[in-house]
Amino acid sequence: MKKADRRKLPFALIIFIALALGIVTGIIFAAAGHPEIASSYIKPFGTIFLNLIKWIVTPLVFFSIMAGVISMRDIKKVGSIGLKTVLYYLVTTAFAITIVLIVANLFKGLFPVLQTSELSYDPPESTRFMDVLVDIFPSNFFRPFMEANMLQIIVASLFIGFGLLMLKQKKDIDLRPVDTLNDLFMKVMEMIVKLSPVGVFCLIAPVIAENGPEVLGSLAGVLLVAYIGYFFHMVAVYSAAVRLGARISPLKFFKEMLPAILFAFSSASSVGTLPINEECAEKLGADKSITSFVLPLGATINMDGTAIYQGVCCIFIATCFGIDLTFSQMMTIVLTATVSSIGTAGAPGAGMVMLAMVLQSVGLPVEGIALVAGVDRIFDMGRTTVNITGDASCAIVVSALEKRKLRKRGEGSAPEAEE
Ligand code: ASP
Repeated sequence: MKKADRRKLPFALIIFIALALGIVTGIIFAAAGHPEIASSYIKPFGTIFLNLIKWIVTPLVFFSIMAGVISMRDIKKVGSIGLKTVLYYLVTTAFAITIVLIVANLFKGLFPVLQTSELSYDPPESTRFMDVLVDIFPSNFFRPFMEANMLQIIVASLFIGFGLLMLKQKKDIDLRPVDTLNDLFMKVMEMIVKLSPVGVFCLIAPVIAENGPEVLGSLAGVLLVAYIGYFFHMVAVYSAAVRLGARISPLKFFKEMLPAILFAFSSASSVGTLPINEECAEKLGADKSITSFVLPLGATINMDGTAIYQGVCCIFIATCFGIDLTFSQMMTIVLTATVSSIGTAGAPGAGMVMLAMVLQSVGLPVEGIALVAGVDRIFDMGRTTVNITGDASCAIVVSALEKRKLRKRGEGSAPEAEE
């Protein structure tokens, strides 16, 4: 293949090739009886890749939300858009929960029972809502960054963003440095995301080397169920939302979203997809000041795909361990998964780390994570795609609602996006 052609290879395809090569390499090491070589010399490069992503996510979210707030120039506008955004995210997430419960119950038979232990399930006392609420507010300026506590970072960036807006109203301060910092971290994120193929290769090869290729087979069922959930949620919920909320045909929506969808699928990072997602949403009629607030916020708090994944995996792990969950127990688990998805960073693999926490907090065996860890990347590609599509649909719907509001007041004459 000529050099020019190679450059045209879609990023998603490159990732798949890296994934396949990683699997083959893992099989070779397993067959040669030396899985430790893969763990000692290949895995560290995968860890470096994940570390870089974790490193950049906190400043990126901090500055992108702050830049979003500043770009709206008016605190009242931020409030009205913020409210609509959070409501939209809550409603779509409620649909995601319903879909998990339906899909997981319908297809539970596909999950193997690996251990028919006498395990019964005792859900622990649920964490008090008030404690969760208090935890969202940081008590130390630096700790949210040190601990990568995304919800606390969002609160901090909102407060500082509001503060800057208020200052700007009193004296003419220059707010451009915030935009520059935002652009800078976006650029660095883009650079890191370009390393994804190497990251994927180095993460999957040691898993296959250590566990043998059989892990892939036993996971086909749960992967299929998660993907059915993802697909159904994207097609039903987001299509209806853009149709009803912004009067855009679902076909047009998905067609224009394709670049962002492909990028999210290959990078497995909502935050990494932000620049391209903003472009796609704006092409579909979303307002720039709205996308720059709604999308970074969504990239951290709106994770329908991650909620679906965590719900399905919890039910899968419980089944594998011979635990037969009742509907209300499932409901508790899925709700916990949803709350945890809100605190998940929009970075590759973040959802799996949170899955461990969900398992622990609902009293399911944490060791179960080993069952799904090997193919996390495949889950992640799908859930990130759902996550960013949800964010974009929100930006489009909220923009359309704002435009309608302005038009009613006779203030705006911007045409609404029609099919
Ligand atoms: N990778 C996902 C995202 O960036 C988060 C997750 O791991 O669930 O949206």
